[in-house]
Amino acid sequence: MHDRHGRTHTESKYSLARSAPHLALMENGGEAAKWRFGAANPALEAAGRHNIRSLVHDLYDCLDRTDSRSVVPLGHGDPSVFACFRTAAAAEEAVVATALSGKHNNYARAAGVEEARSAVAEYLSRDLPYEVTADDVVITAGCNHAIEVMMAVLAAPGANVLLPRPGFPMYESRAALCGLEFRHFDLLPDKGWEVDLHGVEAVADESTVAMVIVNPNNPCGCVYSYDHLAKIAETARKLGILVISDEVYDHCVFGSKPFVPMGVFGAIAPVVTMGGISKRWMVPGWRLGWIAATDPNGILRDKKIIESAIGYRAISVDPATFIQGALPQIIANTEQTFFENAMNVLREAAEICYQKLKEIECVTCPHKPEGSMFVMVKLDLSCLDGIHDDVDFCSKVASEESVLICPGSGLGMKDWLRITFAVDPPLLEDGLERVKSFCKRHGKPRR
Ligand SMILES: *Cc1c(COP(=O)(O)O)cnc(C)c1O
Repeated sequence: MHDRHGRTHTESKYSLARSAPHLALMENGGEAAKWRFGAANPALEAAGRHNIRSLVHDLYDCLDRTDSRSVVPLGHGDPSVFACFRTAAAAEEAVVATALSGKHNNYARAAGVEEARSAVAEYLSRDLPYEVTADDVVITAGCNHAIEVMMAVLAAPGANVLLPRPGFPMYESRAALCGLEFRHFDLLPDKGWEVDLHGVEAVADESTVAMVIVNPNNPCGCVYSYDHLAKIAETARKLGILVISDEVYDHCVFGSKPFVPMGVFGAIAPVVTMGGISKRWMVPGWRLGWIAATDPNGILRDKKIIESAIGYRAISVDPATFIQGALPQIIANTEQTFFENAMNVLREAAEICYQKLKEIECVTCPHKPEGSMFVMVKLDLSCLDGIHDDVDFCSKVASEESVLICPGSGLGMKDWLRITFAVDPPLLEDGLERVKSFCKRHGKPRR
């Protein structure tokens, strides 16, 4: 065998036989080395158990490669792959212009590029009864990174956080990884997936430091009303905890309810607002998000929450500086019509999804989606033959129909399904039609 310098391996000056003949001999039965390492971090294993990326990826392995139909990805939300959801031209131009300016090729400060922090502060202030300042903002590599930062900031020994069920499993993963205890409260399907506030009070104790809400909601597709958010704030105040409001789907509403940011209630209980451009601008690959103290009384500042978040940012990954540099222009130049068009397509897709689901006998959808890109659906296994749970259902739908759906177990909801409708509408319709014929084929004969 020759390497790229044309030498044969035996004559290479790096040949083991030549440089360390005693080691080369060991391959033939010398003393075995004792390797002391292994991938055995229990916290990492615990964190991985909440990872739905791997659940959805397992489904890819179930696909039948001989099926000539296109794969319908209803498992994870990434609309950016469809032409109808292409981001605003103004956003792409802002990134290009920033790259060409040569002004953002540097390392940025830990809190983020100053102009980006100001742009986020101004963006959030539009919908709030007080001003957020650049000092209240930390730029992150997407909203997932914001979750990572906040879980680490709150991970005091013995502390616990309250997470919604169903929820977004990155919270569980990140809390597990940094040794922060988490407890669940339920979202109530019969009440439009509102937070079970009695449940929140029941699981909280003196060591509880925060509760998380996601609004507009992934995975339920609900949007919380002004009154419900006020009640959440009152509950947090009573418990003495902060509210982490995941608003990565801010303004992603297409039903009758408007989007109300949790920060509106920041004077009742301190709110950490997290967001990003991944969903509203449909560019999850650009990896840009934020954490903001939306707390007019400055309690988060007194408690050094933002300071600590910046401290964590200083030792974790950085969002690309030129994307941060482009943010002010992305926000300022994106035309309203882009958002309107995107919401029109999502509204149409949600409608198709809801109507199609009604035609499928073994599933029920307790709440018509009015925001985000997801809906939760309950599986009725009693009307299906030979399907033992949600994971089995999703594996078989993948292999027989080339449709990918996220099993609810991944979100703490066994025998439920999470479906994204942020898919090109004709493909969505085709995919759900396939699920329908799957259910017919596997349906128990009616008596
Ligand atoms: C997609 C999503 C995120 C992660 O957003 P990125 O900006 O892509 O990291 C966080 N929270 C929820 C609820 C999401 O749906």
